Amino acid sequence: MIKAIYPGSFDPITFGHIDIIKRGLEVFDRIIVAVAINIEKRGLFSIEERKSLIRDALKEYSRVTVDSFEGLLVNYVEKVQGNVIIRGLRATSDFEYEFHMASINRHLNDRFDTFFMMTAKDYFFVSARTIKEVAMLGGSVEGLVPVNVERALKSKFQTLMNQGGDINKLDTVL
Ligand code: ADP
Repeated sequence: MIKAIYPGSFDPITFGHIDIIKRGLEVFDRIIVAVAINIEKRGLFSIEERKSLIRDALKEYSRVTVDSFEGLLVNYVEKVQGNVIIRGLRATSDFEYEFHMASINRHLNDRFDTFFMMTAKDYFFVSARTIKEVAMLGGSVEGLVPVNVERALKSKFQTLMNQGGDINKLDTVL
């Protein structure tokens, strides 16, 4: 049984992530989508909101579970008895960062390897940050994120605006 860990911010989950997960299920028996808790980066959605959006979007996939972790990824992988780390690659710009992360993780613990999957042609331009920017400015993100995420983005920005949020200052949550 090969258990893969797919770590990321998932703030929020997009069809780019979901595509990697679906294709990952063709290779691995189980996937744990693990939301990384980053104390320096608050993000738009809370960790609990992100997890619940992921669970909702992936409820038909019984071999996928959703979790969160704090601290070193390799320690988390060890704790949940994972076998491999999955990451997605979009453009050459992702490569350098991912190469560094995979190398340091391998240095820290060489029992796990990182498995990279190339983005699908329909989603190479989709990043959580772009999605948030477009949604914040009132653009449509239909077809790029699941419907529950589309709804959550609308209501989140609505709430922030109602709280007197200045659109120019909202970039702190991106
Ligand atoms: P984002 O860059 O969208 O904020 P995350 O930190 O949540 O992404 O990323 C988790 C992993 O998913 C990373 O390896 C990232 O490269 C990958 N990923 C994100 N978006 C896509 C996409 N559209 N296609 C393929 N991989 C992606």
